[in-house]
Amino acid sequence: MSWITEYVRPKLRGLLRREVPDNLWTTCESCNQMLLSKELRKARNVCPHCGHHMRALVADRLKWTFDNGVFSRIELPQAPVDPLGFRDQKKYTDRLKDARAKSHEDESLAVAHGTIGGHPAVVAVMAFEFMAGTMGAAFGERFVAATRLAILQKSPLVVFTASGGARMQEALSASCRCRAPR
Ligand SMILES: [Zn+2]
Repeated sequence: MSWITEYVRPKLRGLLRREVPDNLWTTCESCNQMLLSKELRKARNVCPHCGHHMRALVADRLKWTFDNGVFSRIELPQAPVDPLGFRDQKKYTDRLKDARAKSHEDESLAVAHGTIGGHPAVVAVMAFEFMAGTMGAAFGERFVAATRLAILQKSPLVVFTASGGARMQEALSASCRCRAPR
């Protein structure tokens, strides 16, 4: 091995690896303008050029909604997993595992409470980043929990919707397990 392969090449690789990170720029879905991701987040995902509202992650949505970004997420019920033993190219249980790892959310609905403009409020945010915000049994149970909490606190329930519809892996019968709040 020469000094070129031992010393120069690794150095060059190191330099090349210090490339621009993938998420530094975001392209506006509406006007195709390249936007600095950091600036876009400061503008709460609203394009400064055309005013287009881009998708927001659950974590950001909650931070932006509550006063001073302060809120508490509530512990939510876990529904039975994979009621149909569904499998397409992958097992449904594996898809759930992947979705949890990628989105850092444990289901397609997150619920938190705090204050908005000084008023107590419960906020439920659908996580499009979790299996396109699809609704299964867990979603139903969580929505009921959010409603119950709002009734208990006598506070408004604000819901941010972002959904791809019913989750096919659980089918309609499973997603209709949700009960009306008592
Ligand atoms: Zn735009």
